[in-house]
Amino acid sequence: MASSDPKDEADWALAYFTKGDALSERVRGTLVRTLYTLPSSLAAGAASGIAASLVVAWLSGSTVLYVLSLALTVVALVRVAVAVVLSPDSKASTSKLEIFYEVGAFTYALLMGTVAAASLILEVEPAGKVLLAANAIGYGVAICARNAGRPTIAIGQLILVCMPMFAACLYLGSLAYYAFAVTIVLMVPAMASITMNVFKVLRDNIAAAETSARLAAKMQNLARTDAVTGLANRAGLNHEMVEKLMNVPADQMMGMIWIDLDRFKEVNDLLGHPIGDRLLQSVARRLQDVTPDGATVARFGGDEFIIFCEVDNRADCMRLASEVHAEIMRPVRIDGERLEIGASLGVAVLPDDGADADSVMQAADLALYHAKVGGRRQTCFFDSSMSRDLARRREIEAELRSAIQKNELSIFFQPIVDLSTGRIRTFEALVRWFHPQKGEMRPDEFIPVAEETGVIVTLGNWITGQAAKAAAQWPDDVTIAVNLSPLQIKAPGAALGILNALREANLDPTRLELEVTESLLLDDSDATEAFIRELSSRGVRFALDDFGTGYSSLSYVNKYPFRKIKVDRSFVSGPEVSKRTEAIIRAVAEMGAQLGMEIVAEGLETVEQVTAVRDAGCTLGQGYYFSRAVPDYLAAMLLAQERDEGSGRRIAL
Ligand code: C2E
Ligand code: CA
Ligand code: CA
Repeated sequence: MASSDPKDEADWALAYFTKGDALSERVRGTLVRTLYTLPSSLAAGAASGIAASLVVAWLSGSTVLYVLSLALTVVALVRVAVAVVLSPDSKASTSKLEIFYEVGAFTYALLMGTVAAASLILEVEPAGKVLLAANAIGYGVAICARNAGRPTIAIGQLILVCMPMFAACLYLGSLAYYAFAVTIVLMVPAMASITMNVFKVLRDNIAAAETSARLAAKMQNLARTDAVTGLANRAGLNHEMVEKLMNVPADQMMGMIWIDLDRFKEVNDLLGHPIGDRLLQSVARRLQDVTPDGATVARFGGDEFIIFCEVDNRADCMRLASEVHAEIMRPVRIDGERLEIGASLGVAVLPDDGADADSVMQAADLALYHAKVGGRRQTCFFDSSMSRDLARRREIEAELRSAIQKNELSIFFQPIVDLSTGRIRTFEALVRWFHPQKGEMRPDEFIPVAEETGVIVTLGNWITGQAAKAAAQWPDDVTIAVNLSPLQIKAPGAALGILNALREANLDPTRLELEVTESLLLDDSDATEAFIRELSSRGVRFALDDFGTGYSSLSYVNKYPFRKIKVDRSFVSGPEVSKRTEAIIRAVAEMGAQLGMEIVAEGLETVEQVTAVRDAGCTLGQGYYFSRAVPDYLAAMLLAQERDEGSGRRIAL
């Protein structure tokens, strides 16, 4: 695109304007219009000319001068009237303006010259001759300056005003008149050259102003356009939103749909930026196709797009959002590669969710955040409760990032006890956050935030490392259980990270147990399977956590090498505990026995519960009845106590 280069633009202008008289129509128009500015100056000039000729006519009593004065008056009146009617901003075409002006100006100049020439020839007292000649020459000189924008007119007027006087001088034939004639003749080229100089300065200035205005408009356009998709960018969006809001009726509802592509980064990383760019272009085209005419479609940076347009009501906006969503979900084919991308959408309307552009954007952003948190590939409409939620989460997120460095986090250990012997077989590592202001924060509060924001990867690695170090101090037959979030497993090099932590702590892989939930297995991705297989082959064990809260699909139990199933505590102590749940525990325990898996009952708080789950067939138990989660030194103490007491009764069983 050569014409987008500012240098080219300047060169073009230069070439164009140095082509002699080939002024562009616009520059010519501007200059012609300067002829019509200030019609009052035209009127004042004409009035003084007419007054002078009338005075001289009256003094001399010459009929010729009276007639010429009358003609001057008529021409002047017509010209002023035309100038007022065809004022510079009128729609009249440049050439029409120019011709009107030319005819009037030339006639007037010729008349002025003729009046002066007549006074030279006729019986007029010398002062009258001087007055009219000076008036005519003064007019000729002044007009060259005033009309320098159209040099042909200016110089034409000068010649026409001088010609009759020149002829009169030759006719009168005295030495003084010859000298006057020579002066007049010399004055014409001198004034013409001055006029041309002024004209060039004017023309160059206008051309330069034209060029810089054109460049400025082009730059502004570039600054508001996204280079990859050709859509408006952030600046363009802001501009268009302001424009739209100024031009719609106050009660017009406007909808904003904020779109965030899921997994775009993966496409970029795996297939390269050129493919990523083409994906963005195809998304941009689809968005433009699906939105109504006149809608603003912008790329808000990265993989985010925003649609801003008029809507009839909330339902209308939601309908548009689902059309947009469906359109993005359609697979894209790029270079034979079939790409499936999802998107999360946040929707808000103005004025309900925000009174101005900024606040409706905030609302849509919040709605988008909720869509992403709610499991992605969703569309969320703004709701006022979102604001409060978000503020808390954002605060936690920011603090969590620095909590590890500030030593605010620690790992506590809760024993998992063998229900037949009462011995501690495992400690489950549970993270604790002692916040300097908010006190102890529960993992249920911050783990989900860590998962949503990805902080869980760093946090999880740190937890595994700390837990392995503590476990390395315990007797060899005691294992450590660590909770794993799905996101941790999907992070690149997840298995390697865990093996490294074990090596650094000098802990045998068989002493590590990883607790995972069904939600991880639901995804059924290759990455999950590879992770579990690789670590299992090194001896790491897996436990299925919170069994009974999700789909409780037994197919996973068969598919993956679980050594343990942890029955969720709601089955033991929750409000739904009943004969039926007892039956479920019994069935799970039976299955476990057959598959050689251990069944852990979580949340045991009373001796009755312990007896019940043991009778139902659970082999292991965990809960406050045995111990709460405790710091590492207390965990070591519990183990030491147990071993000191010999093989008799263990922990309060
Ligand atoms: P979970 O894996 O089911 O952990 C057991 C939770 O039950 C722990 O809560 C524990 O303190 C609590 N608990 C144990 N015995 C009893 C009992 O007798 N009665 C009652 N009412 N509760 C009992 P906590 O420590 O608050 O952890 C909550 C959840 O947070 C955990 O549930 C786990 O999903 C997550 N979590 C905790 N630590 C970590 C961690 O290090 N990494 C990850 N990814 N998640 C963690
Ligand atoms: Ca657990
Ligand atoms: Ca659990």
